[in-house]
Amino acid sequence: MSNTPINSTNTNDVSMFDSVLARLDEAAKLMNLSPEVSEVLRSPVKQIKVSLPVSMDNGKIQVFKGYRTVHSTHLGPSKGGIRYAMDVNADEVMALAAWMSFKCAVANLPYGGAKGGIKCDPRSMSVGELERLSRAYAQSMKDVFGVNKDIPAPDMGTSGREMAWILDELNKVTGEDSPGIITGKPIALGGSLGRDAATGRGVMVNTFAALKKMNLDPKNVTAVVQGFGNVGSHAARLLSEKGIKIVGIGDHTASFYNENGIDIAAALAYAEKNNRILKGFNGATEIKSSELLICKCDVLVPAALQNVINEENAHKIQAKLIVEGANGPTMPKADTILNDKNIICVPDILANSGGVTVSYFEWVQNKAGYYWTEEEVNTKHDFKMEIAFEAVWNNVAKYKTSMRIAAYITALQKLEQGVKLKGAY
Ligand code: GLU
Repeated sequence: MSNTPINSTNTNDVSMFDSVLARLDEAAKLMNLSPEVSEVLRSPVKQIKVSLPVSMDNGKIQVFKGYRTVHSTHLGPSKGGIRYAMDVNADEVMALAAWMSFKCAVANLPYGGAKGGIKCDPRSMSVGELERLSRAYAQSMKDVFGVNKDIPAPDMGTSGREMAWILDELNKVTGEDSPGIITGKPIALGGSLGRDAATGRGVMVNTFAALKKMNLDPKNVTAVVQGFGNVGSHAARLLSEKGIKIVGIGDHTASFYNENGIDIAAALAYAEKNNRILKGFNGATEIKSSELLICKCDVLVPAALQNVINEENAHKIQAKLIVEGANGPTMPKADTILNDKNIICVPDILANSGGVTVSYFEWVQNKAGYYWTEEEVNTKHDFKMEIAFEAVWNNVAKYKTSMRIAAYITALQKLEQGVKLKGAY
């Protein structure tokens, strides 16, 4: 992104899909996965690339590149968000789609995995431009998306607003009102209560589950949350509401540290009034963004970008526990360093699966035409998340491996059944 935040490595020369394959291969070897199944899962089912001409406010036409990759459909219709960012490319979308397959399998959802994206800078576009772009994307993907086929949702740079435009466009194509064709919608259009905070909530539930295993009392624990968008802000709020002291926060504009704890309610109120950014917040000392991940804390929640934990900074991390709110925040080489330092890392495909879990609940509610209370959603979410955590934790002991590889094994055990039962031509 033009205003690339935080200390992410320049990822242009690093294939994210290779990062996926490195982990897949390691897990496959440990669990003795059949080579045929591995081959199937190394190859995405479908990759679509489109050009989207959009009339800009200056009267000129700009052509944007749009992507959708369906990675797998063995366990159900494919599911995954749509991201608007400048670094969106075919490799990144393919990696994110594969992660969705593993994430849905770990969370035991009846879905395959997919991901989409548009290479654009949403922060520099007007609401009208974003609406035209979203509608153009929906039109170009009308044969891909379907309520029982491929179901999109928000991701980085998108929210309920974009989902509403895409829903409207897709419903115009079919002439039918089919809210379950997309999730993460505004409540008025069939969205689910609890969906907005769900990814952050999943991070919170996973953090508490891990602390319990580590025999750490949450009341004596400090945490740093990198990212203050949908995932980071809800994660910071929920962790602090449950008694964990948040000592560091940051977004793409500024990072802050306060060893006595940051008033997260005040930071949220500040960001709300300040165009959703933290720059200028005075409730803590401003620090360099590169310092945020390595400052003193017990729990580190990277909830912003991919590849932020890398070979350069992994050995400086002081946290005992990392809970990955973002997709792909840790590079494979950093995994080895973290494992050597005995830092427990709850991997993205488990830690941030709360979002797609409540997307699943939204889809179920849309199909039934019957809507649940927020409490029902949260209770069901927490229950599902705790079961997923336990399944992964058991595989850590069984295969004597890291949580990341154990999570891949958990996913592959399910996917292997899907691939074998459905067979091939
Ligand atoms: N984009 C989110 C993710 O990466 C949510 C996907 C969904 O709800 O389908 O998990």
